[in-house]
Amino acid sequence: MSSIVLFGPPGAGKGTQAERMIDATGLPQVSTGDMLRAAVKAGTQTGLEAKGFMEAGLLVPDSVIIDLIKERIQEPDAKNGVMFDGFPRTIPQAEALEQITGVTHVIAIEVPDERIVERICGRYSCGACGNVYHDTFNPVPAGGCTCGNWEEKRRADDNEETVSSRLAAYHEQTSPLADWYRSKGIFHPVNGDRAIDDITGDILNALRL
Ligand SMILES: [Zn+2]
Repeated sequence: MSSIVLFGPPGAGKGTQAERMIDATGLPQVSTGDMLRAAVKAGTQTGLEAKGFMEAGLLVPDSVIIDLIKERIQEPDAKNGVMFDGFPRTIPQAEALEQITGVTHVIAIEVPDERIVERICGRYSCGACGNVYHDTFNPVPAGGCTCGNWEEKRRADDNEETVSSRLAAYHEQTSPLADWYRSKGIFHPVNGDRAIDDITGDILNALRL
């Protein structure tokens, strides 16, 4: 077992790097949100327990999440480990996780806040086909979207104030956890403010692949 934990603020390109890490390591990605939905749908005992909390509008307790992870890592595709995305978020969760599976690497994609704000706030897309554009980095062609239909779409929460507060929440939550993993010598920060391939290269180096 050699499980990996992946950290990265919103807008840091975590999804892209996660896909590449899955290709390179062969480890399945375990996101607690997906896992919860799957367990509820499958109607497992833990799933039913989780459903009770969700339907009551309550946060699913750590003990239930940990039970779900225990079940998940028993599955054949997880025999060599998994890649956790969005978990753990707190030190108690990390401690509980340590009791059930060994985490060998924590990869943290780091991008300065002001760069994330720049990336997210300039974003817009084509309402017709979903193509994503950016005011500075990738503006829509003069004649409109390449799909032939053009309808500019911007998300209301892609504004500086909202993005800044999401980033503040991310740092507040992640910093203690980063320190905790750093003290264990398995924390690998990666500069995410570069070309996608360079970031992947550093991640694979950290994983010694
Ligand atoms: Zn389009």
